[in-house]
Amino acid sequence: MKRFHFVVLVSALLASACSHAPSATRPGASGGAEFRQPEGASGLIAQPGWHGQKFAVATAHPLASEAGLEILQAGGSAVDAAIAVQMVLTLVEPQSSGIGGGAFLLHHDGRETVVFDGRETAPAAVNETLFIEDGKPMSFREAVVGGRAVGVPGTVRMLEMAHGAYGKLPWARLFEPAIELAEDGFPISLRLYRLLKADRHLRKDPKAGPYFYERDGEPRAVGTLLRNAELANVLRRIAAEGSRALYEGDIAQAVVDRVHDHPDNPGLLSMADMAAYQAKRRQPLCTDYAPRGMRQARSYRICGVPPPSSGAIAIDQILGILNDTEARFLRFDNPLWMHYYTEAARLAFADRARYVADPDFVAAPAGSWQSLISPSYLAERARLIGPQSMRVAPPGTPSPPTTHYSSMPEQMEYGTSHISVVDAWGNALAMTSTIEDAFGARQMVRGFLLNNELTDFAFSPTDSSGAPIANRVQPGKRPRSSMSPTLVFDNDSGQLVMSGGSPGGAMIIHYTAKLLYATLNWGLTPQQAIDLPNFGSLNGPTLLEDQRFSPAFVDALRSRGHEVKELDLSSGLQAIRKGKDGYTGGADPRREGRVMGE
Ligand code: GLU
Repeated sequence: MKRFHFVVLVSALLASACSHAPSATRPGASGGAEFRQPEGASGLIAQPGWHGQKFAVATAHPLASEAGLEILQAGGSAVDAAIAVQMVLTLVEPQSSGIGGGAFLLHHDGRETVVFDGRETAPAAVNETLFIEDGKPMSFREAVVGGRAVGVPGTVRMLEMAHGAYGKLPWARLFEPAIELAEDGFPISLRLYRLLKADRHLRKDPKAGPYFYERDGEPRAVGTLLRNAELANVLRRIAAEGSRALYEGDIAQAVVDRVHDHPDNPGLLSMADMAAYQAKRRQPLCTDYAPRGMRQARSYRICGVPPPSSGAIAIDQILGILNDTEARFLRFDNPLWMHYYTEAARLAFADRARYVADPDFVAAPAGSWQSLISPSYLAERARLIGPQSMRVAPPGTPSPPTTHYSSMPEQMEYGTSHISVVDAWGNALAMTSTIEDAFGARQMVRGFLLNNELTDFAFSPTDSSGAPIANRVQPGKRPRSSMSPTLVFDNDSGQLVMSGGSPGGAMIIHYTAKLLYATLNWGLTPQQAIDLPNFGSLNGPTLLEDQRFSPAFVDALRSRGHEVKELDLSSGLQAIRKGKDGYTGGADPRREGRVMGE
C-alpha cells in the first residue's frame, strides 16, 4: 500500500470519527420531490456521494477500501477485491468480521447471479439443548463469550470457492495488502477505541487483552499503530496453501483447543468439523419490484440471499406489502408511512420467526421460499394492516407460488461488515460478513477473533405450544441469518442498478429495506438514502433512531397504538449505484465506511 495514501487515510479516519455532529440541512430528493427531516430532528453530516466511471469498492473501513482499490487497479475482479478487503477487515475492523467468521456473497457476472454461502455450521457434537442450562434458555450474554457459540468458520472457504469461479489475480496476491498492514501496523480508530472501551470481556482474553489494551486495562490510544505478526503469519499460510491452512493442521488445532479449553463456557468444535466445512453455491432469491405511487415506475429485479438468511425474504415481503397499501403515495416525513412500514415489518418478522431456517434442515412452506414472497400472498398479508398498530403480527399460511423466477441476468449488534464492489468488466458483488457480536466470542487465536454465530439459533428448541422451532440448534446446521447483501437490476435492460447491504443484526433487514425504498421509490441517491434516520420493528415495539424524529412524529405513531422505542440504531450501509453517467456510491456516516474507485 502506498505510503502517501496511508497517511491521508489515517487522517481521514481519525477525522471521520467526529462526523456525528448535528446538521440542520437534509439532502433533497432528486426529481423535484423535496424531503424534509421531521421537524426538530437532528441529522448527520452527509458524506458527499462518491462518483466514478470504471470501478468502485465500498467497505466499512478506509484501509479496506484502499486495499480493494489497489486490487481493482491491478486488474483484479470484484471477487479479487472483496478477498483483499476481507483480509484487511480481519485486521482493522476486528469487531466486525474476519477469517474466524462467516459470510454471504452475491455475485453477478453480466449474465448470471449466484450466491456463495459461507455461513458457519454447528459442530457435529451439539444438540438442541446447547443453550439450555438448568432447564432454561441461557441469556444471550451468557452464551456469547467463550467456546460454546463458536461455529465452524466459513468465510475463507467461501472466498476460495468464489475465487475459483470469478478470480482473475492469483489468490496469494490478494493477501499482500493485509499482510503488509499487519506487519507495519494500522492505527486504532476512534470507533474501535470506543468499542474496546465499552467491552467488558475482550480484555480478559489471554491473547486479545495484551494486543488491544494497556496494562491498566485501558484500550490502547486512538492512533496507536497495532501490529499483528501472528495474523500476518496465518494470512501468509492461507495465501500459500489455500483454505486448508485454516481448516486442517496446527491453525485449526489452535482454534479447536481454544474452544474446548475455555475455563467456564467451553464448546464442542472438533478437527473433523473444521476439515468437513463446505461453502455452498446457491440460487439467489429474486423478486420483481415495480414501485407504485409517487414516481413513475421502473420495474426492478431485486436479488438477495435465500435461507439460511432471512434477509431477502423479509425485505421482499416488506416492499411487496407496502406496494399494496396507501404507503406508496406517502413520503418519509409522514408518520402514516412509518405506520405502514412498521406494520409490514411486523408481518414479515412473524413469518421469519415461524418459517425461516437452514434449508438443509427445514422445508420451505408450501414447498418453496417463493411462496412467502408471491404477490397474491403479500396482497393478502397487506389486508391485515389497519389504522391502528397490531403490535404483534401472526405468521401467515402461504400457498404454493405460481410465479417462479430464474436466477437472472432486540439485539443491536456490531459484529458485521458490508462490502459492495463493481469491477472494470461490470461484475457486481454484494457481500456481508460477520463474527456475530462485536468482537465475536472474545476469543483471539493466532491474531484473529472467533465468531459466536451459534447464538443466531433459537435458544429454546420448542415454542410455547411445544412445537419444534425451525431455527433450533441441530448438528451441522447453519444458524438463521439476517444478512442481506442485495443486487438490484433493471427488469427491462437486465443492467445492474445497485449493490448494497449493512450490518446490524436483525435490523439489517430494515437498514437495507430503507436503502432500497428510498432509492427506488423516492429517487434518493444512495448517500441520501443511507443518511435518512433508521427505523423498523422486529414484531414488537416500533424502533426509531434516537434523536432523529420529532416529538410530534413519535406522538402520531403512539396515537395509532405503537409502542415507540428510540435507540441508537447504528447501521453500516454501503452501496454503489449504476446510473447513465457512471457509478455513485454511499457509505454510512454512522461508522467509518468509504467508497473509492475510478
Ligand atoms: N449474526 C447476524 C446475522 O447473521 C449479524 C450480526 C450483526 O449484524 O451484527 O444475521
